[in-house]
Amino acid sequence: METQLEQVYDQVLRRNPGESEFHQAVREVFESLGPVLTKHPQYVDAAVLERICEPERQIIFRVPWVDDAGRVQINRGFRVEFNSALGPYKGGLRFHPSVYLGIVKFLGFEQIFKNSLSGMPIGGAKGGSDFDPRGRSDGEVMRFCQAFMTELYRHLGEYTDVPAGDIGVGGREIGYLFGQYKRITNRYESGVLTGKGVTWGGSLVRTEATGYGTVMFTERMLGTRNESFDGQRVVISGSGNVAIFAVEKAQQLGARVVAFSDSSGYVVDEAGVDLDLLKAVKLDERGRAKDYVARRPGSRLVEDGSIWDIPCDIALPCATQNELTVDDARSLLSHGVRAVAEGANMPTTPEAVRLLQESGVLFGPGKAANAGGVATSALEMQQNASRDAWDFAYTEERLAEIMSGIHDRCAGTADEYGRPGDYVLGANIAGFTKVADAMLALGV
Ligand code: GLU
Repeated sequence: METQLEQVYDQVLRRNPGESEFHQAVREVFESLGPVLTKHPQYVDAAVLERICEPERQIIFRVPWVDDAGRVQINRGFRVEFNSALGPYKGGLRFHPSVYLGIVKFLGFEQIFKNSLSGMPIGGAKGGSDFDPRGRSDGEVMRFCQAFMTELYRHLGEYTDVPAGDIGVGGREIGYLFGQYKRITNRYESGVLTGKGVTWGGSLVRTEATGYGTVMFTERMLGTRNESFDGQRVVISGSGNVAIFAVEKAQQLGARVVAFSDSSGYVVDEAGVDLDLLKAVKLDERGRAKDYVARRPGSRLVEDGSIWDIPCDIALPCATQNELTVDDARSLLSHGVRAVAEGANMPTTPEAVRLLQESGVLFGPGKAANAGGVATSALEMQQNASRDAWDFAYTEERLAEIMSGIHDRCAGTADEYGRPGDYVLGANIAGFTKVADAMLALGV
């Protein structure tokens, strides 16, 4: 990194001690920005880098709720409103025991550039809680969501801050959160949350969008080498919304998906993942990988080791941050992987990204490859604002156009900066310059 970037990065380290995921996310973006600052010194003069790394507002709050045994439980809630140069703060909520300020900031920081790259008018934010939904009853989840919103509502609004889901927050949780917002404010303000149920203001395709979009983006990358998903072996980590609908779209395009995972291990299914069974186990029953294997002859559960040891042509990490390490990248390369795209946020460690790129593998970074989710959230906001509801085919077509646009912006920017095929550089620069220009235009 160049001196100016090093200085700002040092300041980020000092200001945000112990927040290693946030440091990693900033470093990853900064490593692409050297040539931009040389070309556009006005960004340096206006301290855009310093400003972009400091969230506009950070909210931390207590979430008290009562469990089924009548005991009072306390969790911590977060919302980091990172940047609103392009539109209202926008980004998901994550409920997971690993959540702390550093995770929320890394996700919020990524979200700024992802949302910018999507071409939609949305700023960047993220939130969540260290609440662990696993093993909690429906009533407990509802009471937790209500308590969470009882504090958060005052910071939200369709023109202010619009949360959605992320790990641990799906349609059920969005329903409970929206219900509480409506109760407190006495407003049916559909555009205040996205990922709503389709019968009460949600958008078709929103559930599928992140996974579908990741595969659409990858298909466009493969197209630059006259390849496609058709006939390829694919490994997809995770088994949440992102992974399941990445499986669906990859299969629609003719691929064979041979493995998926959850926190109990990974499942190998050489015949190709049974999508209906996967949906039944994971979406309807909230079950575990072993429940899939029990009903699927020929599949097996591997409880330790890495899913990336399974040979494949295309790997889509769709679980969580830093799940694909440099050892995993070596393993993938030894089996001839040709494309890797991030359905999750920052699932590939920086060393693994470097190795894959140096080895000529097509690499789609999350802020480009998984932007279909938040882009479709913006389409949901658009439908809410016009009190309209589009059909599935039209909405999916809009998503496909958006993913193509993101692909072309990344590829075009990489070409412009003399690094053809470098989607990391392309995504970072294209995402950054749009936000930076808006920040300059809006003044200090
Ligand atoms: N959590 C998703 C993401 O990482 C979606 C956010 C949204 O729809 O606002 O982009």
